[in-house]
Amino acid sequence: MKNSISMTQFAATMAGGMGIPAPKAANVPFSMLEGLLRQQGVETAKKVLIYNPDAVGQWLFQKYTEWFVPVLRHTQLGVPVCTVLPSVTPVCFGTMYTGVEPSVHGIQKYEKHVLQQESLFDILAAEGKKTALVAVENSSMAILFQERNIDYYILPYDGEVTDQAEELIRNSDYDVIVVYNQEYDDVMHRTFPESEQSLAALKHHIAAFDRLATAAEECWKAEDTLLCWATDHGIHTNEQGHGTHGADMEEDLNVMHFFGAWKGEK
Ligand SMILES: [Zn+2]
Repeated sequence: MKNSISMTQFAATMAGGMGIPAPKAANVPFSMLEGLLRQQGVETAKKVLIYNPDAVGQWLFQKYTEWFVPVLRHTQLGVPVCTVLPSVTPVCFGTMYTGVEPSVHGIQKYEKHVLQQESLFDILAAEGKKTALVAVENSSMAILFQERNIDYYILPYDGEVTDQAEELIRNSDYDVIVVYNQEYDDVMHRTFPESEQSLAALKHHIAAFDRLATAAEECWKAEDTLLCWATDHGIHTNEQGHGTHGADMEEDLNVMHFFGAWKGEK
């Protein structure tokens, strides 16, 4: 069964959590994030960390659940999300941050170019939220949302990206930090989704989130904060025995997003 909540709802949901307008064309938010924030005593999040690991399908969470304990420890809400078709990286991240279907934002196959469609990054800039996007060079996240009034930290690979993101959490005053990592996707294409190397990469993403969330908990204690783990699509094994994705099947479409929040100790 495909998850009922759509990737098109992410942008408006996050905007709502920050108390800023959603991109005008974005689909409606899902309600549970507002519920989480209320439960945590947060009216609107002033600091936001979004961690975007590539290709961590929901079935990985179902099968290797205990490995995700570090993610669960920093979050209180897990949301099953159905991504969009074709379930490939630029299409899915295009939708995640604009809230519209691929036919509207314009990337409908594996191609990377700057999106003209209004995105969460445009809203953040317009609302005066100081925003950093930290991503691997030549990745979709490094390319699609260029030309916005935010700061870009484009680095060679995940290690440098995570180091930079932690540095920004600890020693800068960004309101919103978005972090993209890609090792799992790279390795599972080269091998297969449950190869030793792929599973090691999955653990690296979990560890990176743990590290960044811990830094945020230490440094943003005084601020109303929202943390988020949001992957773009799932994966399956093709007839040649390699990892792939893009298909209209549950393994590729169903993903889990996780959200955590706290009220600042003013
Ligand atoms: Zn991807």
